[in-house]
Parts: sequence; structure tokens; C-alpha cells
Amino acid sequence: MLPDVRRQSRESLLAQFQSWEVPGYRLDQLLGWLYPRRAASWDEMTNLPKALRQRLAETYSLTLPQVVRVQGAHDTTQKFLWRLADGSLIESVLIPANPALYGERSDRHTLCISTQVGCAYGCRFCASGLDGWKRNLEPHEILGQVLAVERWQQAQTSSPPSDPATPTPAPARVPERWVSNIVVMGMGEPMANYAHLMTALRILNAPWGGNIGARKITISTSGVVPGIRDLADDPLQFRLAISLHGATDEVRGQIMPVNRKYPLAELTAACEHYVARKGKMITLEYILIDGVNAAREQVEPLAKLARRLHAKVNLIPYNRVEGLPWNRPPEPECRAFSKALEGQGVNTTLRLEKGHDIDAACGQLRLRTERELASSEPTPTVAG
Ligand code: SAH
Ligand code: SF4
Repeated sequence: MLPDVRRQSRESLLAQFQSWEVPGYRLDQLLGWLYPRRAASWDEMTNLPKALRQRLAETYSLTLPQVVRVQGAHDTTQKFLWRLADGSLIESVLIPANPALYGERSDRHTLCISTQVGCAYGCRFCASGLDGWKRNLEPHEILGQVLAVERWQQAQTSSPPSDPATPTPAPARVPERWVSNIVVMGMGEPMANYAHLMTALRILNAPWGGNIGARKITISTSGVVPGIRDLADDPLQFRLAISLHGATDEVRGQIMPVNRKYPLAELTAACEHYVARKGKMITLEYILIDGVNAAREQVEPLAKLARRLHAKVNLIPYNRVEGLPWNRPPEPECRAFSKALEGQGVNTTLRLEKGHDIDAACGQLRLRTERELASSEPTPTVAG
């Protein structure tokens, strides 16, 4: 199989062009098609000579995720289910501008992207891990989610709605960047696919690529300590969010198996290292699950941890997952938890917005589709 052109750095493409004795301005034309114009085929690149396009096609593959389903209306949260070249399904979630949740200045849209097909971490409450882990995403599949959403969006605004599976034509003019912020919070554990993630994020960040500021990109981890330390030592200023969900080893360990490998003391030390190296605030994500981690006894240790890390806390009432027994606490309890945390001097956000049927965490749409496909086939497919 050929390597995808969207996992190549500018330097490696330049070296390739030089070895072919193709002038440098052709590279800028190619990059213009790959990133601002989000091309999905070589044929679209009409200002490149046919012979060069032919040569490129013999050397690299060029693919974007294909839309399978889109859920949710314009102006609200939209969920995208994609099919990749090998038939794997992944999800992205597009969230319209709202007050900055992760400390970034928020304008336009935030896209939540996946890094793996499935997840091996098996958090008890999460749909992404229910059918296990299938594979890591390649760099071009990670960054391709951004380009594919923008291409889809462009097609919606420039022509009447069509069958989502039909390939959309490339735009004639260089379109505006639609996605301004990225959260790596979709399916999968980003730190378990660190090298591919970093390749993808560097290209999304590069002026010749996605041109999205590092400060507008947030990586969320369930607490994989080596990844947090590597990120702390990376020169780029990506933001970090920790899926905490429990402020004591006892509570966290019940719902997140990763806590056995990296207990809170180790996780906290890695976060302190990150904050010291970067001089930047991190975010602690805390899902409120009724009867599990939302009792008042958790407020004190959570506040202590947040204060020690100078972190802000995002409280997220749990989204129900088909087939799992967990529920969110009643709204007054969520508010009381939030208030108690604030009362202890912690910068707290409670996300109570409506639309959770669609807004539901990543992994659910894929899971449902995989299961529907499996039940309609003579031999069931087994993921993981
Ligand atoms: N693996 C990484 C990133 C993907 S999960 C991580 O765990 O951080 C993105 C976020 O969605 C995590 O904070 C996760 O705990 C949360 N999440 C998973 N299932 C959820 C659910 N049903 N309701 C609300 N949040 C959920
Ligand atoms: Fe994986 Fe994150 Fe879901 Fe845990 S919460 S199973 S780490 S995707």
C-alpha cells in the first residue's frame, strides 16, 4: 500500500519534488490543494501538470474519511460517522462556538476528533471501549477528520443538500477555515497513539498545513502518564485535559482500570511536571455519575487536587450509554456539587446544555452502527 500524502511533512515532500526536479512552486500548489482546499482526488488539482499528478498518484495515496451518517442540525452539535479506507468506522463531533471550555479563545467551531478505532482502556462508563480496540489511526486519518468536516460543510453551504455518501466537488475558491479549535476527545486514548497523533497535530498546526494555533488544540487523556510527560517536553503549546472522574484511588479505580497502572499520586506528579514545564493551566474533566462519584465526599479531595494543580474543573453530567447501567444525578445535585466545589475556591464549569441525545460522548454512534451491521450480516464481526 502507498503511504498517504497527508502524512508527509513539507520537508519530505520537498525532497521528493527535488529528486523529481520539479520546481518548488509546484509544492506550494500541491499543499494548497491538500490543506486549504481539502482535495479528495488528484484530478481536482487542475493547475498541476498531468504528468506530475500521475507521478504523485503512483507514489502516494490520497484519501479522506467518507461520510456515513451525520446527526444533529446546523447551529447545534453535529456528529459525523466516517468510514475509513479499510472499512473501519470512527466519529467526530462538531460543536458550535460557545464560551471557551478549555481556556482557549473560542470562535467559530470546535471539532472533537478520534485517534483510534475503539479503545483498549475499558473505562466502565464509556461506549468507545465497549467493543474493545481495533487499531490506531494513521496521521492522515486523524487530521483528515478536520478536512472532511470542512469539505462537507462547504458542500452544504454551496449547493442543495445531497446524499451524504456522494463525493463533493472541490471548491473553486480557497475556502475559509471552518474548524477553529480542536479537542482530541473522540474515540480512543490519544496518548496510546502518541507518535501518529503528534505527526497529525504538527501538520494541522503548520502554516503550510492546517494553520491552527497550538493553543487552540486540546488533548484529553484518561491519565496515561508517559504521554503527559512527553507532551510536557514537546516544544509546541498544545493544551491538556485530564479525564479524572474520581478524586480518590478508590472511586477512580472502580470506573477507570488505567488508575491501577497510573494511580493518582503518579498522575498528579506528571500533571505538575506539565504545568511547571509549560506554565499553562490544565483542565480536569469530571463526569458526574449518580451513585458513583457525585457524592459530597468527593468535593474535598477534588478541590484539593485542583488547587494543587492550579487546574480548572469541567463537570459533565453523564450521558447515558445503551446497555450500561449508569445515570447522571438529578440536576439540583449536579448544581450543588458544582457550587460546593466553587465554594472551595476552584474554577468550575458545569455543562448542563441540552441536546445530549446527540451531544452524547463519542463512540456511541459508531457502536450502534457496528452492531446494526453485525446483526444484519450472516457472520457477526467481532471488534477488538
Ligand atoms: N481517551 C481520552 C479521550 C477520549 S474520551 C480520555 O479518556 O480522556 C473523551 C471524554 O469523554 C473523556 O473525558 C471521557 O471520560 C468522556 N466520556 C466518555 N463516556 C462518556 C459519557 N457517557 N458521558 C459523558 N462523558 C463521557
Ligand atoms: Fe478510552 Fe477515554 Fe473511553 Fe476511557 S474514556 S474507554 S480512555 S475513550
